[in-house]
Amino acid sequence: MEHPLTREIIDVHCHSLAGPQQEQLIASGLAKLRQAGVSRQVVMCLVNTRFTAEEMAGLIPAGFDNCGDPRCYEVDTLLRLVQQSEGMLLPMVDTRCMTGNPTERLQEYLARGFKGIKGLYLAEAGNDLKLSSIPELFGITPREFHDREWEIFGFAEANELPVLYHMDVNRYQDVALAILRDFPRLRINFPHFGISRKAIRKLFDSSSNVYTDIAYMRPHIVKDPQSYKDFIQHYPDRVCFGTDALLYQPEIVLQYIDLVRSLQLTEDLETGVFSTNPRNYLGLPAVTH
Ligand SMILES: [Zn+2]
Repeated sequence: MEHPLTREIIDVHCHSLAGPQQEQLIASGLAKLRQAGVSRQVVMCLVNTRFTAEEMAGLIPAGFDNCGDPRCYEVDTLLRLVQQSEGMLLPMVDTRCMTGNPTERLQEYLARGFKGIKGLYLAEAGNDLKLSSIPELFGITPREFHDREWEIFGFAEANELPVLYHMDVNRYQDVALAILRDFPRLRINFPHFGISRKAIRKLFDSSSNVYTDIAYMRPHIVKDPQSYKDFIQHYPDRVCFGTDALLYQPEIVLQYIDLVRSLQLTEDLETGVFSTNPRNYLGLPAVTH
């Protein structure tokens, strides 16, 4: 069955980890992606001002090569790339290593043009990403970590900012449900199907503001495409296109576009994943076809 190419593709989930040396590569990559139909890429920005490069390494999953600032202060480099991208790149502030008063810091980033918030629920060691525990790294109690995350969610909800929140929603189902209960208007994306397709169904069923994305899921989807197709059919307005690509890896974005096309979804479903769902999640106006 043939259907016309989707008009636009929005990648709701990529990372930078790029330095000034990658600027050329990124510019040509964005041109390639634009040609492939990508209109926007939402890119996470690390804002470390306190931890050492070694400590930061404990907060970056294996397999992501940092070509940028070894201490992961990405703000100035990324904002320059955003400016050069002519509206294609939308920056989100990554709060995993953000120190200081969350509200004050987020206000600063909002003023500098950030469009959303990224967080990770790393409440303890032994999490799914095998990353450092944030309470341990920050020297705070789990309760203080919880309060910090809640302040961030409150800020996002009040300012209508989308939140990309990495969380194992099966292991932390109670916390996930508490987020939805306490912040009913918050638009939140638990990426990678929340690490559990079974558990994220419960969240979808309890709030229409919950989304997910397919970032980093390619090997799983390739292995069992039908079950992912069924899932998208069951939740047609929740699954967003995302890639977890670094800004200098446009080939990964192209692979993920092919991956979605290989599922041979109906035109409506495919447009949902590529465009409508990302727009609803990000709070962008709908496109009129
Ligand atoms: Zn990611």
